[in-house]
Amino acid sequence: MKDVYLLGATGSIGKQTIEILRENKNAFSLKAVSCFSNIELLKKIIKEFKPKYACVGNIKDKEDLEKEFSDIICFSDEEGLLDLVTSGGDGGLLVNAIVGIAGLMPTVKAIEHKRDILLANKETLVTAGKIIKDLVKKNNVKLIPIDSEHSAIFQCLLNSKNEDVESIIITASGGSFRDKTREALESVTLEDALCHPNWSMGKKITIDSATMVNKGLEVIEAHYLFDISYDKIRTILHKESIIHSMVEFVDKSIIAQLGNPDMRIPIQYALFYPERKNFFNIKSLNFLEVKNLSFQELSFKRFPCLELAYFCGREEGIMPVVYNASNEAAVKLFLEKKIKFIEIEEIISKAVKSADNILNPSLDVILETDKLVKENIYNMYEVKR
Ligand code: NAD
Ligand code: MG
Repeated sequence: MKDVYLLGATGSIGKQTIEILRENKNAFSLKAVSCFSNIELLKKIIKEFKPKYACVGNIKDKEDLEKEFSDIICFSDEEGLLDLVTSGGDGGLLVNAIVGIAGLMPTVKAIEHKRDILLANKETLVTAGKIIKDLVKKNNVKLIPIDSEHSAIFQCLLNSKNEDVESIIITASGGSFRDKTREALESVTLEDALCHPNWSMGKKITIDSATMVNKGLEVIEAHYLFDISYDKIRTILHKESIIHSMVEFVDKSIIAQLGNPDMRIPIQYALFYPERKNFFNIKSLNFLEVKNLSFQELSFKRFPCLELAYFCGREEGIMPVVYNASNEAAVKLFLEKKIKFIEIEEIISKAVKSADNILNPSLDVILETDKLVKENIYNMYEVKR
C-alpha cells in the first residue's frame, strides 16, 4: 500500500488520477489532497477517500473544510501546500498536477521527504531542472513523467544507454490553430483558443498548445529529464496524436510509443511503474481506423515561441524561468480577455530579449525572478489599458 500525496486533485490530470486511485484502493491510499478553488469537488474526494491532510487556496475555504471534516488536518495558501507535502513522515509518492511554477516548491519539499515524484507539472523542471535532478539523486527517489510525450520517451529509453541515443523526437498535435496562418491569428478569440482538436485539458495548457509554448516547455523538460542536449531534441507536427514521441538510436533504429490519446495511460503507467495495468478497458489502437499518420515541419517562423524555448533552454540559468514566467503572465491576461492571442508571444519575446541571464540561480533567485517578470508584465498592461 503506497501513500499518495495528490496536488491539484480537481484539475484535468488530478481528476483522472482520482479515477485510477478509485479502482485501486488496495494498492494506494490517498493521504493528502490539494486544490486551489474547486472546494465542492474536493469535499467529494475527501468524503470518498478520507485523506489525513487537505490544502485549499484560501483561509476561508480552509475554515469551511475544518467545520465539515473535524478529523482531517487542513492547510491553505502557498505555505500550507508546503506543510501538506511535508506532513506525515517520509516516503510514499507525490503526484504533482498543479499548474504553473506554484508546483515547484512542493516538489522540492516532497523530494526532501523521500517521496517519489510523478510529475505532470512541467513548470517544475523548466524553472529548476538542474536543482531538481540533483535533489532526486541525492535523496534517491524516482522521478517519473506524466506528460504523454515524456512518458513515451521514458518508455522508449528503457534499458538503453545515453550514448546510444541519436535524438529524441517530440511530437506535437499543433493545438487549436495549427491550420491557421500567422495573419489569421490576429483575430482569433479566447473561445477558439480553448478548443483543442485532440485533448481535453486545463485552460492554461490548452492555450500553451495553441502558442506552441507547451512544446517549448516540453523541450526544456526533456533536456533535464533525460539528460540530453538541445541539439538532439527534435520536434515534429503530428496531428493525429497517436505517436506520443520517439527515440532514434545511433544505428538509426527508431522506437516509438503509440496509443489513443488518453492521459490515463501515462498516469497509470507512472503510478504502477514498472508494472502495466488497464482498469478502464482503454481500447486498443485500431490502425485501420487511424489509416493515416501524418508529419509536418514545426516551423520556427510559424511558431516563434518554440524557437524562443530552444534559445532560453540553451542559454540555461535564469532564461527558462523568464520564458515560463512571461508566458504564465501573458496567458493569465489572455484568459482574462485583457490581451489578444498574438500578444502572448510578443510579451514572451520582449521579456526574453530584455532579460540578463543569471547562471546557476538558487531557488530564491528563481522565485524572485518569476515574481519580478510577472509584476513587470502586469504593470505594463495596467498602464496600457
Ligand atoms: P488544470 O487547470 O485542469 O488543473 C490544475 C489544478 O491545480 C487544479 O486542481 C487547481 O485547483 C490547482 N491549482 C491551480 N493553480 C494553483 C496554485 N497556484 N496553487 C495550487 N494549486 C493550484 O490543469 P491540468 O491540465 O490538469 O494541468 C496540470 C499540469 O499538468 C500542468 O503543468 C500541465 O502543463 C500538465 N499537463 C497536463 C496535461 C493534461 O492533459 N491536462 C497533460 C500533460 C501535462
Ligand atoms: Mg504533453
